[in-house]
Amino acid sequence: MPVIQTPASHGADAPGEPVIVLDGVKKRFGSFTAVERAHFSIDRGEFFAMLGPSGCGKTTTLKMIAGFEQPSEGRVVLESVDVSRTPPYKRNVNTVFQQYALFPHMTVAENVAFGPKSKKVPKSEYTRRVAEMLEVVRLGDFAHRRPTQLSGGQQQRVALARALVNYPSALLLDEPLAALDLKLREAMQFELKRIQREVGITFVFVTHDQGEALTMSDRIAVMNEGRVEQIGTPEDIYHRPASLFVASFIGTANLLPGELAGRDGDDVLVRLEAGGTIRASGGGTSVDDVGARPEGSPVSVMLRPERLLVSNEPTGAGISDGRRLSGTVEDLVFQGAAARLSLRLADGTDVITHVGTDTDLPFLRPGDTVEVTWQPGAAFVLPGWPPRAGASSTDVDQIEAAL
Ligand code: ATP
Repeated sequence: MPVIQTPASHGADAPGEPVIVLDGVKKRFGSFTAVERAHFSIDRGEFFAMLGPSGCGKTTTLKMIAGFEQPSEGRVVLESVDVSRTPPYKRNVNTVFQQYALFPHMTVAENVAFGPKSKKVPKSEYTRRVAEMLEVVRLGDFAHRRPTQLSGGQQQRVALARALVNYPSALLLDEPLAALDLKLREAMQFELKRIQREVGITFVFVTHDQGEALTMSDRIAVMNEGRVEQIGTPEDIYHRPASLFVASFIGTANLLPGELAGRDGDDVLVRLEAGGTIRASGGGTSVDDVGARPEGSPVSVMLRPERLLVSNEPTGAGISDGRRLSGTVEDLVFQGAAARLSLRLADGTDVITHVGTDTDLPFLRPGDTVEVTWQPGAAFVLPGWPPRAGASSTDVDQIEAAL
């Protein structure tokens, strides 16, 4: 599909050039700080998600980019221009909210044409753009319907077309899929990504749904209590989290506390509270941070459930180089292609693993002893101790929800 040549994508702008820069941006409401010194940039054509629990400051950050809130400190730079004090209607960004607020008395085409028409774009030009955007969102055949004659997903796509038709430098999306039911939301995740690739416009997407962020984004900023804890690709965030918060917020993580017992090349050795010494890597800067700490410092080892190999017969694998744990079976929950196995280590720590249902393992019974190993590099070290040792609590919630 061709990339639509918007005014913003013409000319000397190189890919990878920042479209939005948050330069030390802080937002206070009275004595409360909603956003702490956000300092990052978003590139042209990027699908960028801001992810975090309710109240972490995602929407406030988005509103400062849109112009609905002004920073208490720092600058918001859009297309190399400081727009910190520029009102929303003078910024070349458009926002799509959870409530689409389409004009009910106008047709789909009239809704989409509204922006360029009120900006006095010539009729031939906006007619062409409206037709183009209705094709992009696959609503070409619905141009003459009214919003009430459309499904939720179709209305959502009209809202997108209505924003994209202005050829904004960036499209800001605040939980735009939250009003849709689960099936439609999943379908729209792929649809949104397709639309973004097709138009080549920067999308900044706010969500508290990690699955949504991981599925669609080029990069994700994970926020917690007003701070950006990590910015990275979905892969980075998942496999190389920068903090215990990121590790436990994204997916399921087994977090095993221990103390730093030494360093061996790029790896660190961790003496676990649960017993035994584990070899763990830290990938980028984290291992340097952790490895540089004195021996005895509190650290945690993160093991993702799907990277653990379970055996009900002793294999001897991983014993000599710190890649082995043993535990007893607590519970086994079938989830279609995989089963979720809960284990308990000798000190009572719970560990979750995923096992294929085509193995003999589903015949395991509570109380059976098993051993767990993993490939070199699958154990990741993080500074500090989690509030609770073992499988992250999101996981327990998911199990409860499944039951
Ligand atoms: P959610 O997912 O629930 O929308 P969020 O991460 O988007 O959460 P924000 O809406 O950015 O969170 O709010 C961050 C914090 O700032 C919250 O504690 C919120 O109560 C507070 N806050 C937001 N707007 C205001 C305001 N106008 N006045 C005072 N406090 C505010």
